[in-house]
Amino acid sequence: MKVVTVIGNRPQFVKAAAVSRRLREEHDEILVHTGQHYDDELSTVFVEELQIPRPELELGLGGGTNTEQTARMLAALAPLLAGEQPDAVLVYGDTNSTLAGGLAAAQAQIPVAHVEAGMRSFDRRMPEELNRVLTDHLSALLLAPSDTAVENLRREHVAGVVEQVGDVMVDVAMLIQPRALADDGAPARLGAPASDFVLATAHRAGNVDDPSRLRALVALLRGVDGPVVLPLHPRTRARLEAAGLLNELAENVTITAPLGYLDFTALLVRSRAVLTDSGGVQKEAYLAGVPCVTMRDTTEWVETVDVGWNVLVDLDVDRARAALAASPPADRPELYGDGEAGARVVDALSRLAG
Ligand code: UDP
Repeated sequence: MKVVTVIGNRPQFVKAAAVSRRLREEHDEILVHTGQHYDDELSTVFVEELQIPRPELELGLGGGTNTEQTARMLAALAPLLAGEQPDAVLVYGDTNSTLAGGLAAAQAQIPVAHVEAGMRSFDRRMPEELNRVLTDHLSALLLAPSDTAVENLRREHVAGVVEQVGDVMVDVAMLIQPRALADDGAPARLGAPASDFVLATAHRAGNVDDPSRLRALVALLRGVDGPVVLPLHPRTRARLEAAGLLNELAENVTITAPLGYLDFTALLVRSRAVLTDSGGVQKEAYLAGVPCVTMRDTTEWVETVDVGWNVLVDLDVDRARAALAASPPADRPELYGDGEAGARVVDALSRLAG
């Protein structure tokens, strides 16, 4: 079987790390990096640390609005797929690259397999929610990470075959978190305290594109008790600089460049709590046994909230402070599979081709 896999940003590198090498043991894969997240240096770190095959094709299609970006990707992917004629196209998650890869394939009548199918925040203002819903409805194979995701897909009567495989990010976290825990020199190297700090990330359009929300985000981060370390996403840095808020934030918060996966994980496993609007980081915190406070009013990873390890506070500083002061529950059940999701994705793809 020949598979074209389309990835484009940081979390998709992590997800591909669970699948690509395994896939290549049995099948041919062409990895296409759209360049949606265009930091070359960081992409290289991810490829090396996570032992992802180097992408065969790099399209360099970052920048512009979501619509422009998706349109450029579609225009580039259509002839690429016509030339390669793969048996399936594999996409991950909820980015513009996911939708463009899925739609270009579906238009060319090539079966689409979607990893992380069925995730819903039920907030259609999020560009990611539109990408997820649309991709699920054009996919032939929907690889869902949780019972909740399967239930969401059933309710929407998707046309493709639904399989629950677990979460591919769990596979990667289970491999990398022990290594990151052993890296005792990491906090000092990265300019972070040795322990007892809050690790923060923020990049959702809903939090950083609107100036008043951005100001609320800065106030929240500055209002946290004790040290906060913020590896700063390029989008957020640009918005903070444009609003003249970067220096103000830097008075109370240790700001670093975006980190490689091992370095980021080394901070995550040592933090007292995570404060984030990321999807992936909510899960990684749970897996590491680190309480999570999420700066959104919805989440796709509802199970982490249900079991009490994740609290949604939107950008309310008082709620964030209270949640960061609370102790986590004693129990931490397995929510997203056993770390073998990558193998199940490959099996499901083989059956699709068969
Ligand atoms: N991450 C990283 N370096 C950082 C910040 C995050 O390696 O400086 C990783 C993190 O561990 C997670 C992924 O990037 O696996 C999450 O990406 P992001 O928050 O950009 O995307 P989302 O999950 O919200 O789609």
